[in-house]
Formats: sequence, structure tokens, C-alpha cells
Amino acid sequence: MFLEAHAHIKGKNAEKFSFLEAEKLQIKRVFLNAQNEEELECLLSLYQEFPEMIVPFFGFHPFDVEKIKQADFFFLEDALKTYDFLQIGEIGLDKTKPFFDKQEEIFKKQLALSLKYQRAVSLHCVKAFSTLIPLLKTIKTAHAPFLFHAFSGGIMEAKALQNRSAYFSFSKKAKALSFVPKERILLETDSPSRYASFTEIVKVYEEVGLDSSLLQNNAKAFLTFRKK
Ligand SMILES: [Zn+2]
Repeated sequence: MFLEAHAHIKGKNAEKFSFLEAEKLQIKRVFLNAQNEEELECLLSLYQEFPEMIVPFFGFHPFDVEKIKQADFFFLEDALKTYDFLQIGEIGLDKTKPFFDKQEEIFKKQLALSLKYQRAVSLHCVKAFSTLIPLLKTIKTAHAPFLFHAFSGGIMEAKALQNRSAYFSFSKKAKALSFVPKERILLETDSPSRYASFTEIVKVYEEVGLDSSLLQNNAKAFLTFRKK
């Protein structure tokens, strides 16, 4: 089975994620991210329909920080309490985007919730590893896995992160594929924003010597942390 480690549900447009195509490509699990209440509602109804296939993630993206209020954190925490299958993401830090201080504040709060409720975290990190890595290093207890989507860090960052139960996912030929630990690599399309073709992505991985059975084993390993 394949796992699609990073895709989004956009607005009420759930049909954008093509289940028929996924079936055809033997994608058995999809990490699907919702970024606001409306998307979460849509994601939860999709999850009810396809509980075996969808792993729902919910969190506040660094691009959206300007509009995030205290009430949103109460909503997020309530959702985590209510749905024990809900993971956290896409959250993170992006130095190329505005309001970095607020990004950091919002990221820290969501990180704290991931610790409190022991949920996996899907991460977006662009040019902000010098802020993010020290934050992760403050975590002393065992944590559910972190997934760095479209990982853009270098060797040093990959090394620092692999000790913190980090996985790395890619949708294209990336330099990091040569130095990230092979047993921590997952596959993603980041659809629908990028519309990368899953078949093409598998080919990219094969070219760098990552066969599908390795990717499938990695997916299983990532998923073992879940209670159900
Ligand atoms: Zn994304």
C-alpha cells in the first residue's frame, strides 16, 4: 500500500481529492489537512465515509496567522479532545511570509497541544529551521512523529531532526533525498495546490533508489504510533 503523506482538503471542494484515482494507484492512506473550521467539517464527513483511508489533520497554517484568534485555539483543543483520531497540521514557520513573531506564537501553542494530546504533526518549515529546531529540542518526552512536508533543510538540519522522530516527505527530486535517512522518507503530492502526478512522483523516488516497498514500510512505521 502507498501512503500519500500530504494533501489538502480545500473549502467544500472535497471531490477535488480523487478517490477513484487513489484506488487505481494503490494509495491506501491519505494524510489530509484542513486549515479552518469549514474544511474540518468537510474532512470529518469524508473521514466518516472513508475511515480506513483518511488520516485527518487539522491546524493553523503559517500563511493564515493574521486572522487566528484565541477562540480558534479553544476550537482546536476541543476538536482534539472530541476526535482522538485527529492529528495536527499543517502548522509551522515560514520566514518568507509576513508576521513571523505571530507565526512563532501560534506554532508554539499548537506544538504544546500536540504534546498534551500526543498527536502527530505535519510541518511546514521554510527558511526557519534556526527557530524551529531549538523549539523541538525543548521537548523532553517521547513525542508522536513529526512530518516535514516538502523538506527544504540541509544535512545538518536533517541530522538534528531525525533524532526527534522526524519523517520527511517530497513530491519532486530534492537534494535532501540523498541525505535524509531512507527509513524516514514518505511520499506526498501536496494536492490540490500542486497537482503533482502520483505516478511521476513514484518514478522520481525510484530514480534515487527508493523502491515502493521501502516507502510502504516507512508508511507503516509512521502509522504505528496511532491508538487506532
Ligand atoms: Zn501543504
